[in-house]
Amino acid sequence: SQPGPGPAGAASDDERDHMIRRALVTGCNGQMGSYLCELLLAKGYNVYGLVRRTSTPNLWRLQACVAKMTLLEADVLDEASLRKAMITCHPHEVYHLASQSHVGLSFTEAEYTVQATGLGAARLFETVRRCTPLSLGTRIYQASSSEQFGVNDQAWQDEQTPMRPVSPYGFAKLLAHQFAHLYRESYGVFVACGIAFNHESPRRGEDFVTRKITKTLAAIVTGQATTLTLGNLAAQRDWLHAKDVAQGAWQSLQAPAPEDWVFASGETHSVEEFAQRAARHAGVALATVLLQEAHCLRPVDIPRLCGNATKARTTLGWQPTVAFDELVKEMMDADLAEARSRRPVPSEGPGSANPVPGGGLSADVPEGPA
Ligand code: GDP
Repeated sequence: SQPGPGPAGAASDDERDHMIRRALVTGCNGQMGSYLCELLLAKGYNVYGLVRRTSTPNLWRLQACVAKMTLLEADVLDEASLRKAMITCHPHEVYHLASQSHVGLSFTEAEYTVQATGLGAARLFETVRRCTPLSLGTRIYQASSSEQFGVNDQAWQDEQTPMRPVSPYGFAKLLAHQFAHLYRESYGVFVACGIAFNHESPRRGEDFVTRKITKTLAAIVTGQATTLTLGNLAAQRDWLHAKDVAQGAWQSLQAPAPEDWVFASGETHSVEEFAQRAARHAGVALATVLLQEAHCLRPVDIPRLCGNATKARTTLGWQPTVAFDELVKEMMDADLAEARSRRPVPSEGPGSANPVPGGGLSADVPEGPA
């Protein structure tokens, strides 16, 4: 049975250690949400996941854990639905990951992005403030983003770096980040912000560049596509594994105080470098399949991001566990295995370097494994 709200006053560390803790994860069926739900279940939490009302919710990333958690329907655009979810589970920890998370899309869906990603966070914080008993001392994780830094000329970015975003997504995430500070400072709500740099995995959505690259190269190897069409190849990003960010999110809510935390690898690599490494691993000659097209370019793009996670490393003891090369390899291997399971390579076997002329599918393949 669930412990009810305790006596007046926030739960002590001791109480927090001994009760079955309840965690609510918004965006639980996204990339990071799925790793986080697995981590929380392994730690013995009762996990509640918020999903949007749709006729067929997209739950493929939760395969390993959906049976062990409780799904609640709610939408960050709908305050009443958030209130209902919050009252249903009275969470000790809330991980706010739900968002319109695609930077490119945010240029054409700017208003929706600000509503969902920016104001959605404010709506959630207010719901926690109003609907969870004070005695529970509910802690919130806000998924902030390196996109908030925008174009800057610093060698690396940390918690003190000025934020001047250049995309509607960056504006919306900064708005949410500032609301997090407001709730922290004005209302005393425990809201930690994890400023995560680009985090990837085989569960990454297919319209993000890393997954687009590995998925398309796998389709090329298996004769299902012929070209890889990209935009800005020179952009440099600090890429780390999504499961490492999930670990950081959890650690940031176990810290004594709500703070901002950069989660980054400290290395930066260009899009071209990612594509080169993935292609080498798949046995494809990149130059023979790569096309650069204007429609994949953004009106403005951050040229370079490189995070400095010294604070999280030294204070939380957090560190990334998957190096860049391993990340590329894990993603490439997963997409190759998936593509081969759909259409085995007829003769040349693994590493077939030549794209099959006239392959059917375009580079933009549908979301989720078949
Ligand atoms: P973001 O850093 O959160 O925007 O993550 P993305 O994976 O969407 O993009 C990372 C970088 O890859 C950005 O600089 C994009 O401009 C660049 N890029 C180059 N070609 C593409 C493409 O075809 N799709 C996407 N999504 N990004 C691309």
